[in-house]
Amino acid sequence: MSESPAILASIRPTHTLSLAAIVALACFVLIPSSLAQQTPAPSAAPAKSAPAAAPTPAPRPPEKPLPGLDLSSMDLTADPCTDMYRYACGNFNANHPIPADQPDVDPFYVLYNVNSQELNAILTKAAVPSPARTPDEQKIGDYFSACTNTTAIDAAGLKSIQPLLDEIAALGNNNGLINHAQLASLIGQLQRIGVDAFFGYGEQQDFKDATKQIAFIQQGGLGMPEKDYYLRTGDKDIKLRAQYVAHVAKMLTLAGTPPDQADKDAANIMTLETALAKASLGVVDMRDPEKTYHLQPIETFMALSGPSFTDFEDAIHSPRVTEINNATPGFWPELKNQLNTAGIATIQAYLRYHLLTTEARNLPHPFDDENFDFYGRILRGQPQQQPRWKRCSNLVSNDIGEAVGKVYVDQFFAGDSKAKMLTMVHDIESAMGGDIDQIDWMSPATKARAKEKLAAVANKIGYPDKWRDYSKLTIVPNDAAGNQMRADAFENDRQLNKIGKPVDHAEWQMTPPTVNAYYDPSMNDINFPAGILQSPFFDRTQDDAVNYGHIGAVIGHELTHGFDDEGRKFDAHGNLDDWWTTEDLKNFTARTDCLADEYSSFTAVEEKNPADNVKVNGRLTLGENTADNGGLLLAFMAYLQRAKDGHIDLAAKRDGFTAPQRFYIAFSQNWCQNARPESVREQVLQDPHSPDRFRVNGVIVNQPGFAPAFGCKQGAPMAPVKSCRIW
Ligand SMILES: [Zn+2]
Repeated sequence: MSESPAILASIRPTHTLSLAAIVALACFVLIPSSLAQQTPAPSAAPAKSAPAAAPTPAPRPPEKPLPGLDLSSMDLTADPCTDMYRYACGNFNANHPIPADQPDVDPFYVLYNVNSQELNAILTKAAVPSPARTPDEQKIGDYFSACTNTTAIDAAGLKSIQPLLDEIAALGNNNGLINHAQLASLIGQLQRIGVDAFFGYGEQQDFKDATKQIAFIQQGGLGMPEKDYYLRTGDKDIKLRAQYVAHVAKMLTLAGTPPDQADKDAANIMTLETALAKASLGVVDMRDPEKTYHLQPIETFMALSGPSFTDFEDAIHSPRVTEINNATPGFWPELKNQLNTAGIATIQAYLRYHLLTTEARNLPHPFDDENFDFYGRILRGQPQQQPRWKRCSNLVSNDIGEAVGKVYVDQFFAGDSKAKMLTMVHDIESAMGGDIDQIDWMSPATKARAKEKLAAVANKIGYPDKWRDYSKLTIVPNDAAGNQMRADAFENDRQLNKIGKPVDHAEWQMTPPTVNAYYDPSMNDINFPAGILQSPFFDRTQDDAVNYGHIGAVIGHELTHGFDDEGRKFDAHGNLDDWWTTEDLKNFTARTDCLADEYSSFTAVEEKNPADNVKVNGRLTLGENTADNGGLLLAFMAYLQRAKDGHIDLAAKRDGFTAPQRFYIAFSQNWCQNARPESVREQVLQDPHSPDRFRVNGVIVNQPGFAPAFGCKQGAPMAPVKSCRIW
């Protein structure tokens, strides 16, 4: 399945490491579709030959979270008025070499590693078979032990996916003609287990009536990250495409296709995917809800797609829908053209490859290794795959996250963190109210609507009030691939089952251990999982200055998303509705243009050949940059108010810094990063977040509170005469 057109705006990229993770997280917003009824087939049964050993935790040094104020990362020889990133983070790289199993290291990654160990401790215990285990403990324990049992995985071969491989092979049994009903049903089965086959289908809140849950269908089916990977003409791009084709051929060969044929198939898959890429919207357009909203009666859509759409609906376990958001209507004519002209052999090879890559993490190790080689080593520059214990710990959290999240919260979430967070959230919401009152470029009518929206924002902190029910999900020992497919199918069915039902406002789109946060424009809510409410983001040993700089800026960031270039299009009720006057919108756009120009000037990756350099895309990252800039401003306003109420002496020094200095250092240290150039390149080309280091100076130059805090002269690099300001 693919990402929903309903865009969740998070504080940082949701990517992790290998393709398995990319696929899972790309589906994050509406999680995977799948293949339910088929799974209990004999091929998916546990491998009898494999021993059912409970996994033992791998020996490793304990990971420690970073402190709220990390003096060891600072470079005190640098001038904060010249380069705040260097001042706050200049020694970070020296102290934090990038581990071989990571694309980069930053405070988020350090905390992710701490969480991985905590999850591992929970799961290792739950993996020991015992009648005393609760049903959820049985599920998370057996899921984890099956995932770590690579002996059983190797012994099982392709058994788990053989019925699907057989169905793909059977597509050619009609004298070479495509049976459209058969193909539609097969695509539905594959999407149901998370295979990105040709397009995406899922559930979303209706952009124009947020009380309704509807079906959407949109472009998809690409093996590389997004359309421009198929179209750019730089040397690196051409080389990467050749490497992708070689990777596809290798995967097909591993599954039994003779090498010569696999080479031809891979080249044909590239031709097919390139045609789909050309018909796809780019990453900037995909952020625009007006461009991805085309609600139509299902009859209208089926006049385009053909009658076999109902076979697809049945296979993916969707209700028969009466209307659908045809998010990317320009995609269908080309998809149809390809299905009619690419030839059955190419379509079969395409489906075979996408099935193999989706399930690779639980197939015998040559598949897993090859998959990592392209998506981890080549695409991200990461030399080594993560150790299995770490991958499996996080996969359980990703695939059946609320079952493990419940235990995680009990053991690792400090009870009063929620109340302390809520105080900060209220402070920052109140600061935003004051900010809206005093801005001079917005009319009273639009201000009233903005404040109505602000008052309606719902705050969700830590974990869900009601946990998800997994009782109908079957998890068995020693069947890693079967478990993965059943979990994906379960999640697909849960999502699609929402179509036509009332919206559940208590639902979370991130699991509790996640080190991230998000704003959802249709829900109009801000969400902070327990995972991020730890040091350095929320350090209970530090004062308010440090915590408002860290997590306060994150809260401000998510809140500002409701009023960025995309979020501003949704009203208090989560509906896409133009509540701006023409004049106010003109003023807003002039301000966002300023920010887009600023960030477009940053070169993210410098190569020997300047033609291969990569610049930040100011339009793609506009929403995130708006949120970063507004978020820090609001956090500072809220902090000043809190300090005033508490009679805090702002000039008093701690660790040698005044309170405002500590605030800005803490904020900057959210984004200290040591990154591989390949990983930065991959992020800049397709992710709406700017690379970490630009999230410091790019924001600091626009903060009126910064120059006074550090005594910078007007005109210094971090205190320019002309700056950008939206909120
Ligand atoms: Zn964000």
